[in-house]
Amino acid sequence: LVQLRDVHLAFGATDVLRGIDVEVHRGQAVSIIGPSGSGKSTILRCITGLLRPQRGDIRVGDTAVHTLRGEVELIALRRRVGFVFQQYNLFPHLTVLQNLVIAPTRVAGRSKTEAEQDARSLLEKVKLAHRADAYPGELSGGQQQRVAIARALAMRPQLILFDEVTSALDPETVGDVLTVIRELVREGMTCVLVTHEMRFAEEVSDHVYFTEAGRIVEHGPPAELFNRPRHERTRSFLQRTL
Ligand code: ATP
Ligand code: MG
Repeated sequence: LVQLRDVHLAFGATDVLRGIDVEVHRGQAVSIIGPSGSGKSTILRCITGLLRPQRGDIRVGDTAVHTLRGEVELIALRRRVGFVFQQYNLFPHLTVLQNLVIAPTRVAGRSKTEAEQDARSLLEKVKLAHRADAYPGELSGGQQQRVAIARALAMRPQLILFDEVTSALDPETVGDVLTVIRELVREGMTCVLVTHEMRFAEEVSDHVYFTEAGRIVEHGPPAELFNRPRHERTRSFLQRTL
């Protein structure tokens, strides 16, 4: 479903991605781990077409993302690719339900009735049906992040990218957010996770990539990468974080 081939990207004179190859099959959960500044978020931003690499191929389904130029095409791509960030960025002046309804009605052209039905069942899924009429400011960080996940799902994306979605949360709310993601993975949603939660990555991922300084140092099934890393760089990173 997603394929990056030899992706190179520089900001000015700084090489940030130096030949990235990543593959995500339909229904897979793939994690990207690695030190701060190694290019993890940049990879996700390339997949959504927010950044354009100087070299390399990026495909999402049949779409050659690296060649897209028009806003219309990019918007169409972003409807298919959900993106959840560390900062949940909910609309503060809209209720939880309205946050979930706005894009499906305005961007995807769905009827209000259909979008609301959808939104309510998504709120069930993230265990927040009882907070449909609350404003984001009235919710905990973990609850807001679950709303942000439901909002991404409301567009019925083909895949979802998660960028350190638990990093800004209080420890006690992290678990509820991970539970929601775990459930999505079980249901077969294609997910790409950038995370510092190594145990979680190990548990849910079909495949894990370890990045450093804009390169994939190694990748493999979690049981191998976490238990028998082949590279010294991976080993020392895991020793520091596990
Ligand atoms: P973290 O774990 O801290 O989120 P990361 O692996 O996600 O790190 P990226 O955000 O992808 O790292 O950044 C990779 C490198 O690119 C960093 O050195 C960063 O400073 C640089 N960088 C990112 N965005 C820009 C930008 N818009 N302009 C210039 N440099 C940037
Ligand atoms: Mg990042």
